[in-house]
This record gives sequence, C-alpha cells and structure tokens, in this order.
Amino acid sequence: MNIIIGAGISGLSAGHILKDEFWILEKNFSPGGLSGQYQVNGFAFDHGGHYFHFQNRAAVKEYVEKFHAFTAYQRNSKVFLMKRFIPYSLQYHLAYLSKRLRAIILQEILQANEARSENLREFLLGNFGEHLLDLFFEPFLGKFYGRPLDELLAGMDKGSIPVPKKDEVRQGAVEKKRFAEGYNPFFYYPQPAAQKFIESYSQPVRQRIRFGEQVTRVDQQRKKVYTNKGTYAYDNLINTMPLKEFLSIIEPRPPFDWQRLNHLSTLVVNAVLARRRRHFHWLYLPEAEMPFYRAGYYPNGKATTVYLEKTVLARGRLDHRETLRDVVLTLQQTGMITEPGEILFHDLKKIPVSYVVFDRHWPRLVPPALKFLRQRQIYSIGRYGGWKYSSMADDIQTARDTASLING
Ligand SMILES: Cc1cc2nc3c(=O)[nH]c(=O)nc-3n(C[C@H](O)[C@H](O)[C@H](O)COP(=O)(O)OP(=O)(O)OC[C@H]3O[C@@H](n4cnc5c(N)ncnc54)[C@H](O)[C@@H]3O)c2cc1C
Repeated sequence: MNIIIGAGISGLSAGHILKDEFWILEKNFSPGGLSGQYQVNGFAFDHGGHYFHFQNRAAVKEYVEKFHAFTAYQRNSKVFLMKRFIPYSLQYHLAYLSKRLRAIILQEILQANEARSENLREFLLGNFGEHLLDLFFEPFLGKFYGRPLDELLAGMDKGSIPVPKKDEVRQGAVEKKRFAEGYNPFFYYPQPAAQKFIESYSQPVRQRIRFGEQVTRVDQQRKKVYTNKGTYAYDNLINTMPLKEFLSIIEPRPPFDWQRLNHLSTLVVNAVLARRRRHFHWLYLPEAEMPFYRAGYYPNGKATTVYLEKTVLARGRLDHRETLRDVVLTLQQTGMITEPGEILFHDLKKIPVSYVVFDRHWPRLVPPALKFLRQRQIYSIGRYGGWKYSSMADDIQTARDTASLING
C-alpha cells in the first residue's frame, strides 16, 4: 500500500502513474490544492496557480491536453514604472525609459561581466548594474521578499531572472518593440476555467481520494500515517504538504532544525470589475507607494476579473478596510478602474505558504532533509513538499517521475 498526502496537482499526477494500491489523503473536500479554484458568490477564482507554463515541458503539455483543452496566450506582461507601462522584462525594453536612464543602464549592462556572486544582490548588480538594480530589482524583489537581497541566494528561482543577452538588450534600447524572450513566452490556461481541468484530471483517481482526511502524524519507523479519521500503513509515502510542516509531524523527529526554513505568505485579492480598461496578463508593480507587487487579469470568463498579490505576515491579522483602500489605489493608479464603483465584488484569500525563501538555511537543510526522507521511502515532492520554486508543469513531471521510480 502506498499513501499520497494531498490531492493537488502533484498528488493527482503521482496517482495517475502508481501501479500498486494507494490512497490519496486530502484535508480539503475538493481536489486541486493551489492549482484549483474556489467559488464565492457565483464567481470562480484561482487559488494560486494561474497560467500553465509548458516551456521545455512538451511531454507534460501533451499529457494534460488529453484531459482538457488549453488556450495559449502570447505573454503580454508589463512593468508599471514612473506612470508608464513597459513590457516585461525591463532589461530588453530600455527604449521605453527616458533617454538619460536608457543610456546609463545600457552601458552598465554591456559592461557587466558575470562574476561569481555570493548573494542575489551581487548577482543582480553583477549582471544588470547599479541603475537597473535601484530602479526595478531592489524595490520589486525587496517588496516581494520583504528582506534585504543580500540575505538571499543567487540563481535559486530557476531562471525567472534571465541573464541578459547583450545583443538583444542593445536592440531593445534603440527600438520600442516587444520581445518574447526568456522566461515563459507563452501562457496556457484551461478552457473555460482551471477547475474544469482539475475535475477531469482527478477522474482517474477519484475513487482513491479520501477527502476531509488531514494527516497529523507520521511514524517513519513503523511506516504509519495518522489522520483525523484513522491510521494507514504504507510501503511508500509521497508527501506534497509543505516540507516545513511535514518535518514537524514526523516521529521520531528528524535531526533538522526545520523551524529555520523560511517562506512567504501571500494575500490574494480577487476583484470583479465593471469593464476591462487595460490589456496585459501580468503587471509588475515595483514602486513602494503601490502596496501590491503584482496584478493580473484572468484570461477568460464572463466577468472581467483581476487578482492582486501582496506578501503578508503568516500570522498577521488582515485589516479588510485598509486592504480595500490599497486595492482601489492600485487599480486607480494603473488605470484598471477610474472610480471605486467599478469594483463590483472582491474577495480576500491568504495563502499561508506561497513561496519558499532561498536563504542561507536552504542548502543546509533542504537537500539533507529530502535525502533523509527518501532513505525511509518517503518522497517529498511538489513546490511545497520539495520546498523549491517550481511551476505546475514542473510539479506534474516530478510527480510522474517519482511514481515511476516507486513502480520500479
Ligand atoms: C500566488 C501564486 C501564484 C502562482 N502562479 C502560478 C502560475 O501562474 N503558474 C504555475 O505554473 N504555478 C503557479 N504557482 C505555483 C502552483 O500553484 C504550484 O506549483 C502548485 O499548485 C503546487 O501543487 P502541489 O500539488 O505540489 O501542492 P498544493 O497545491 O499545495 O497541494 C497540496 C495538497 O495537500 C493538501 N494538504 C496539505 N496539508 C495536508 C495534510 N496535513 N493532510 C492532508 N492533506 C494536506 C492541501 O490541501 C493540498 O490540496 C503559483 C503559486 C502561488 C502561491
């Protein structure tokens, strides 16, 4: 008997492949985890994952398309800076900046020569120069991570900050054109909504999911999983709940100070608007006066819906009125609404564990902890189980590989 903790995209994908008998134990009452949606007042909002990125994942794309139709969108992401909408990534679109700034940044990027960097700040400085660091990276990433960039490791978020190709940077400094370079040039979204995909994707394992079953303890020596409803013996255990929490419920306690693992919590505000006034998928908001770091339009649906994301304290109390003021300010400043009355409905959702923080504790704790678990037939996978930065497509691939490994 094998046990999978969690019926998110990772747990479901592993279940598709496992040959021996298994149960998926899911604390919620529907599948999907952060790749799914929730309903409120007749509106469907994404939990976390929005677009699928199939870049370098052709096999995953082909596989998921057997379950559901996806629509491709050519990336149209922007940065809102100095009241201008500049195509993302900024370094490839310097022509949108003032003449003076453009010249300085271009020169700094062209002169940059990749040196070994000890931390994220050094990496950015070494590859982009001081002015782009001050203008975009430091304010944006500082707002996102809520800590100084020299406390973070370089290169851990898998290329979401591509090292600039100098020829393209030069070209983008003379010509106002949109580059579909680098990180995820295409986005894919299930039609008509993410939950429809999750429903069909969960069908093959539906009978194997035990909903409302929260894992509270794992005995790694007796190979038993305890839940709010019962006890399960396992041969192999696949975990997809956040590694930090998972390590805290294992007995006997693994020899890792897992409390040192750091993560971000995200507040997502979904807002239904009277009309669509802007045309982009994602808008990055680096400036300090804008309380959110990112805004985005849902690609389809009957209503015009946007989401706004902000890093918050895991345990902090949410001030609903203050948040709504921030929402109105962000939407007005970016021209997504002209008056507050255009917000027809809004909903607040906190994601307690949304992004892993790659600081000095990560290399010391995560690889050894995952190895320790694997030696005990426990496979901790997915973005949170593996305590890493990954997309839904990456998680599907890892889950399939893990289940194949278990099949032998
Ligand atoms: C704000 C945000 C935006 C994102 N945007 C994108 C995007 O645009 N594109 C993209 O590809 N990815 C995106 N992601 C990442 C994507 O959401 C994740 O990679 C993916 O959902 C992880 O799936 P998972 O199954 O590994 O984990 P989860 O979705 O977290 O699933 C874990 C499951 O385990 C269950 N569980 C937890 N604890 C227990 C327990 N004790 N007992 C039983 N069950 C338990 C949970 O209820 C959940 O169903 C985003 C993430 C966030 C936070």
